[in-house]
Amino acid sequence: MEPLDKDTAGKLFKHYRKNRDGIRNKPEMASICLICGSIHVIPQNGDDHMLVCRNCGFPFYRYECKVCGETIDGRDPQNPGCRQCGWRICTCGVCGCNNVA
Ligand SMILES: [Zn+2]
Ligand SMILES: [Zn+2]
Ligand SMILES: [Zn+2]
Repeated sequence: MEPLDKDTAGKLFKHYRKNRDGIRNKPEMASICLICGSIHVIPQNGDDHMLVCRNCGFPFYRYECKVCGETIDGRDPQNPGCRQCGWRICTCGVCGCNNVA
């Protein structure tokens, strides 16, 4: 993926801050922090399900569903948290519970 320019990042940030639906389907949102708008987002150390903003330190879930291949993003209202495993629930209904078989 091309690195994001500040203009594009700014527009996406504004849009998705107000309207969180669909964050999971926007590849660019993997590198934009929804808290501070920074594009310095890196993988969280030791956790391949999470990314973290280097600017404000905000961590969020973003990973691929092992079952259907859809992207799961913890900031998207369509991917609510599971109370049992703490992961996010995919739109196909799968969360971490199903992986701990
Ligand atoms: Zn941030
Ligand atoms: Zn899925
Ligand atoms: Zn679960």
